Amino acid sequence: HAKASGPGRAVVFEPSMHEKVLRRTQLETELRQALSQGALSVHYQPIVHVATGGLIGFEALARWKHPARGFVSPAEFIPVAEDAGLIAEIDQFVLKEAAQQLRTWSTRTPLADTCILSVNASTVQFSRADFAPAVQCILEETGFDPVRLRLEITESLLMHRSPAVQRNIDGLRQLGLQLHIDDFGTGYSSLGYLQQFAASALKIDRSFIQRLFNSDEAAELVRTILAMARNLNMKVVAEGVEHAEQWAWLQDAGCHYAQGYYFGVPLPAADALPLLLHGRPLPM
Ligand code: C2E
Ligand code: MG
Ligand code: MG
Ligand code: MG
Repeated sequence: HAKASGPGRAVVFEPSMHEKVLRRTQLETELRQALSQGALSVHYQPIVHVATGGLIGFEALARWKHPARGFVSPAEFIPVAEDAGLIAEIDQFVLKEAAQQLRTWSTRTPLADTCILSVNASTVQFSRADFAPAVQCILEETGFDPVRLRLEITESLLMHRSPAVQRNIDGLRQLGLQLHIDDFGTGYSSLGYLQQFAASALKIDRSFIQRLFNSDEAAELVRTILAMARNLNMKVVAEGVEHAEQWAWLQDAGCHYAQGYYFGVPLPAADALPLLLHGRPLPM
């Protein structure tokens, strides 16, 4: 706790910082409650094939509807969950819920059996010995085909390599699922790391897509990532596509997949199903 050390001395915490700490502590308590009361849900954002715009599947995103505050952004509660030791529970809930949802949709359309599912996996999870076995367990329980599952991890994992992390990576790859690198370009990845990691795809961070036409550098960087991915035999997913012009540019540049508000915002399951009923998921 910060102490005032007498008149004229510097105050350690700004009021705003004190408020931030309070809010974080409160969020942690409320997040625990939300988890035990089933107040978390999953939204589904379409991922499309750039060449045709056809739906290939969904990214499952955690949603927390707070009784008083309304929806709390995952950008705020995921870091809290990581610090509070709650992230495994959240990530496993999202994976299980989404895998079950796709199985349920199978009764409505055969396309639910071919579309892909992308789920975020916190770096924190990779240090736990039971991570890959837990994923395997959920896949067996839900009957979801691992070949259709992508786990999205951030570049920071590449910097935290340890025997435990490596065992999880090996275990997950043995299950047959794909590892995708999320928010690519915002962290530090050397080519060597990328190759060792054996990721199947890079998801280009939306900040680069947003700057495509304002900055020659951003456009050059996206082209470089595409060329590098081609050489490493990886696919590329563009995040944050909001305009037709960005889509056209990505088509021209030979980007494989895309995601963003232009193709669809994250939707609750009931609203995502029509996309599957009317869309055309393509073969993997
Ligand atoms: P992410 O995995 O990179 O997910 C994409 C984020 O970008 C989502 O934010 C999505 O709503 C947003 N987005 C998609 N298209 C557009 C667009 O065209 N424009 C803009 N401005 N934004 C777009 P969301 O759902 O708020 O999630 C934020 C982050 O929280 C995610 O980024 C991911 O890192 C994390 N997250 C979300 N759900 C989970 C989860 O279940 N587990 C873990 N570990 N992390 C999660
Ligand atoms: Mg993601
Ligand atoms: Mg992403
Ligand atoms: Mg992102």
